[in-house]
Amino acid sequence: MMEIDNKKFQKRLSFLEKENAQLKNQVSNFKDLLSNLKKRPLIIGSVERVLEDKRVIVTHAPGNRIILPPNKLMGPLAGDQVTLHPQSYQILEILSRKIRGHVASMELIEIPNATFQDIGGLDAQIQAIREVIELPLLHPELFEQIGIDPPSGALLSGPPGTGKTLLAKAIANSTNARFIHLVGSDLVQKFIGEGSRMVREVFTLAKENTPAIIFIDEIDAIAVKRTSEVYKGDREVQRTFMQLLSELDGFANTENIMFLAATNRVDVLDPAILRPGRFDRIIKFILPNEEARLMILKIHSRKMNLKNINFKELAKKTEGFSGAHIKALVTEAGIKALRKRESFIEQSNFNEALAEIIDKEHSVKDYIYT
Ligand code: ATP
Repeated sequence: MMEIDNKKFQKRLSFLEKENAQLKNQVSNFKDLLSNLKKRPLIIGSVERVLEDKRVIVTHAPGNRIILPPNKLMGPLAGDQVTLHPQSYQILEILSRKIRGHVASMELIEIPNATFQDIGGLDAQIQAIREVIELPLLHPELFEQIGIDPPSGALLSGPPGTGKTLLAKAIANSTNARFIHLVGSDLVQKFIGEGSRMVREVFTLAKENTPAIIFIDEIDAIAVKRTSEVYKGDREVQRTFMQLLSELDGFANTENIMFLAATNRVDVLDPAILRPGRFDRIIKFILPNEEARLMILKIHSRKMNLKNINFKELAKKTEGFSGAHIKALVTEAGIKALRKRESFIEQSNFNEALAEIIDKEHSVKDYIYT
């Protein structure tokens, strides 16, 4: 009897101990919350300029600039992002150095593994990009000999999913260049000076990692035509764009860095970016024709276990498909076979996948146009 009671007590004790630990944890969380509520939030600013006498000009809201006495402790530099005391506006910490290179989705790929063999039906585009990129990166001396400036990059324009990013990666691979990839819309920022600081960071990163290819997808997000009606947000976009132009002009003579940009809307681009010396070379991409679709189908199903597939017929039936659609078709056919626990992919799997994709495309179009 005694023994049973003892066990009961032990159980109760361990239960209470657990509950106690949980409550302590909750109390400490509430304490943190309370102390955070008592603290005043800090202001985020951006250092615009450090004057000769070491005083610092800081912008902390659109149009609000302040000048601070020298700050030897922090040693702020132009372009730094800083936190400011809410009353005295003293710089408390430098954020930007800690989060350098934080452009949201910027990625640096050592050497991408895409090759020209992975691309179907873009022979003319491959040749054009090789002329623009390979020669200046691999043989800059040829340009020096002849006495002309090498081209600094090219603009890839065409519908979504037609292989622009793929081709940019393949050219980085063939020239052993590092590939810095970012999306234009990530450069559109709310705070003054933030977008242009990101642009500077991208180019600094490239200079530290030569040979490099900078690839900005959706360039139209920052390089839209300048209109007379300038809103506050647009002004920041323009500032970012101007920084991009000045970096482009500045690095025109820097060896070993090439610049590629992609857009689906070349018609909305600001003519300034298309000026000779900047993007005077536009490489156009179109939806693949039947022959190209056949090649892309074969490329993406290279490693698959196939049984009697009529690729020619599939190429015919995929009129209007982009390369990305074709890749999706091949993957979907594989999934269909997998679901049926088959060890190979048959024509029927492709047919089912094709019907599904066409159906989905139609419903998306209906949704957009109705
Ligand atoms: P977006 O304008 O939407 O950024 P994009 O033109 O950059 O599109 P990619 O990202 O290069 O398109 O293509 C998406 C995928 O589609 C690629 O990863 C590739 O697998 C496939 N693809 C597209 N075009 C081709 C092609 N010509 N040959 C082989 N694969 C292709």
